[in-house]
Amino acid sequence: MRPPALSLAGVDPSGGAGLLLDIKIFQSRGLYGMGVATALTGQNSRGVSFSRPVEREEYRRGLELLREDFSLGGVKIGMLPDAGIVEETARFLESLPRSVFVVVDPVIRSGTGFPLMEEGALHLFQERILPRADLLTPNLPETEILSGLSIGGELELLKGGHALVRKTGGAVLVKGGHGWGTDYLFQGDRVWLFPGRLLKKDAHGTGCYLSSLLLALRLTSRRSLPLLVGEAKACLRERIQKSLPLGKGDKRYLEVKNG
Ligand code: PLP
Repeated sequence: MRPPALSLAGVDPSGGAGLLLDIKIFQSRGLYGMGVATALTGQNSRGVSFSRPVEREEYRRGLELLREDFSLGGVKIGMLPDAGIVEETARFLESLPRSVFVVVDPVIRSGTGFPLMEEGALHLFQERILPRADLLTPNLPETEILSGLSIGGELELLKGGHALVRKTGGAVLVKGGHGWGTDYLFQGDRVWLFPGRLLKKDAHGTGCYLSSLLLALRLTSRRSLPLLVGEAKACLRERIQKSLPLGKGDKRYLEVKNG
């Protein structure tokens, strides 16, 4: 059996993003999924209504209990709400063997603009979490925040992506959903382009979906990262096209079906 995959993420009780979605994706790819909640939110198809961090000491202990007992295959980092949770996550990541693959999806705001990371945590996130990312998956606004560059076109985007590669030492996938639709994968000095058209459907949890699917593919396949990104993007695109209007609000939900 393959080693378990662990998600450290916020709980969206509607199951459209965060920890619940990550676990569904791990399971759909034949992985045993584990998760420690970083925050409890309240949300539905209309957007996020509230959010509060979990208790720091319980989070630390929760991570320790997993670390001392299991050999993990990979970890996906999602929402880290405050500096205490960022610090405990960093210590946990630093204690893991280098072979554990770490995907970091920076979660700063929800699609509807609700803040999901307190401002004071951002610096610590950059200093302590980014260096351990084997794969970082920012969208355009997050690339601007993390690189400190304002991105108006492809030239600045390329600069921003290369700057983030230097901060992580791993690969960086800059997602183009907030821009012109093309995704850019940076690995070392190389860049792969994934052209795409923007989809009109307002689906919830697309960032979580892509990052946890990439971790699942990385743990179950020997193919190269650019091929895995192509596969994950195709799966996400199909899921967005078939997304479900589960509630009364505008946000549509992604169903998880073998990716
Ligand atoms: N809630 C949680 C727990 C999340 O992790 C995220 C995004 O990563 C969101 C809400 C926001 O999702 P969206 O912006 O797709 O609505």
